[in-house]
Amino acid sequence: MPSVLWFRRDLRVEDHPAILEAASAARGSGGGVVALFVLDDRLLAASGTARVAYLLDSLRSLDAALGGRLTVLRGTPRTVVPDLARDVEAETVHVSADYSPFGRRRDAGVEEALEESGRRLVRTGSPYAIGPGTLHTGSGTPYRVFTPFRRAWLAHGWRGPAPSADEPVTWVAPAPEHGVEALPPAPDLGPMRLPRAGELNARRRWADFRDGALSDYDWGRDRPDLPGTSWASPALKYGEIHPRTLLADLEPAMLDDRRSSAETYRSELAWREFHADVLFHQPWSATRSMRPVVAEDAWASGPVEAERLAAWASGRTGYPMVDAGMRQLLAEGWVHNRVRMIVASFLVKDLHVRWQQGAGHFMRHLVDGDVASNQLNWQWVAGTGSDAAPYFRIFNPVTQGLKFDPDGAYVRRYVPELAGVPGKAAHEPWKLPAGLPVGYPERVVDHAVERDQALADYGRRPGAEPRSGA
Ligand SMILES: Cc1cc2nc3c(=O)[nH]c(=O)nc-3n(C[C@H](O)[C@H](O)[C@H](O)COP(=O)(O)OP(=O)(O)OC[C@H]3O[C@@H](n4cnc5c(N)ncnc54)[C@H](O)[C@@H]3O)c2cc1C
Repeated sequence: MPSVLWFRRDLRVEDHPAILEAASAARGSGGGVVALFVLDDRLLAASGTARVAYLLDSLRSLDAALGGRLTVLRGTPRTVVPDLARDVEAETVHVSADYSPFGRRRDAGVEEALEESGRRLVRTGSPYAIGPGTLHTGSGTPYRVFTPFRRAWLAHGWRGPAPSADEPVTWVAPAPEHGVEALPPAPDLGPMRLPRAGELNARRRWADFRDGALSDYDWGRDRPDLPGTSWASPALKYGEIHPRTLLADLEPAMLDDRRSSAETYRSELAWREFHADVLFHQPWSATRSMRPVVAEDAWASGPVEAERLAAWASGRTGYPMVDAGMRQLLAEGWVHNRVRMIVASFLVKDLHVRWQQGAGHFMRHLVDGDVASNQLNWQWVAGTGSDAAPYFRIFNPVTQGLKFDPDGAYVRRYVPELAGVPGKAAHEPWKLPAGLPVGYPERVVDHAVERDQALADYGRRPGAEPRSGA
């Protein structure tokens, strides 16, 4: 009797505990494993072109790794998954647990439908080193602050990578007409360039980073002009590689002169797990601020908001570092972390637009768009998160640019109007003796004025202590 392995955010075959479970269940009853992916229109609609294109590419690569035996069905999992399990007479459907609010609701529905016909949904593993909801403070409450969470996360530890199956897994495709040929054509990406999807590419990118840029990650990770980060986020989003694999691979670096960089990298993975844990306990934080930072009337609204949002989203604010970041997003579906912070701060604190608007735009364009990491990083920058940057810490987009893109190379790469402006002058084109380069916009706001406005708004936030003499 076969079992079913329903792939979702785990599009790989290595280090995959749910595959081992599915194979062992099938072997016990003399059958093979049916590899299933369900194209759910609700997810596709919410994904944006970059993620849909990346996903389709990744599925083709997974199919190749499975010897061309991936079954692709289109529909609602609650119907499609139990129907397939019944057709192939599988008693168990195996998954890596999904902890997102949408994933939990969907899986509960599928589980219930399977149980109606006496079948089981078996969850083994998750996209995290330690599953969300596992760690608690000494008093049994969820963590709200990152540093103690990371301490507990390190102390708890994680399993090593899952071994390969003792015997090769027998993948079976019950209806060949439901192969990857059933996938829709990739959406037109226009000039957008995406990284190559698939487990092998993810592992190659990771190995290049581990053997190269990792040694300078401590400082290199803050330099958007240099290839100083791992570019692992799309692969982690789709589970083409598991964080456990990365963590195990970091171990040797902990013993040599890369130790500090390896520890920093591990901390970044801990941030990913912290946000997933916060979202697990407070699913509403995907859409609502965890605490207010300014009065409602401080936010831009109507045509002013629309105009500001449009300038920001198209990379035409007149602030080069912000514009470069927003244009990188449109060109690559990815933005460097330092620049994500700069552009997010600018939207919320200089343009006074609610973080939800920015998070929505990011989710439409990011190839690594992930509800927990995206929404809660937005809350972090906006100062509304449970352990967030204080609202009164406001990024200056010019000094951030001068510090982290010291020669202006990043700005020139993404803003062609500034391509002829040498060195760091690219960060302040309004100071050029010849005036602004042709085609580059005037600044939409004056940062100094908006900074004062943001601080004043913060001073009169609900529940704020009145300042003496004010
Ligand atoms: C406003 C904003 C929105 C973001 N949206 C997303 C998102 O939708 N998806 C996403 O994966 N990351 C998001 N991040 C986090 C971070 O920017 C990206 O993970 C990182 O830039 C990915 O590039 P990398 O893989 O080269 O990072 P590296 O520096 O090589 O880091 C390695 C891995 O650590 C994790 N990581 C690093 N920084 C963070 C962080 N601050 N929070 C959570 N995990 C982190 C990621 O999984 C990343 O792939 C966001 C950050 C901000 C400030």
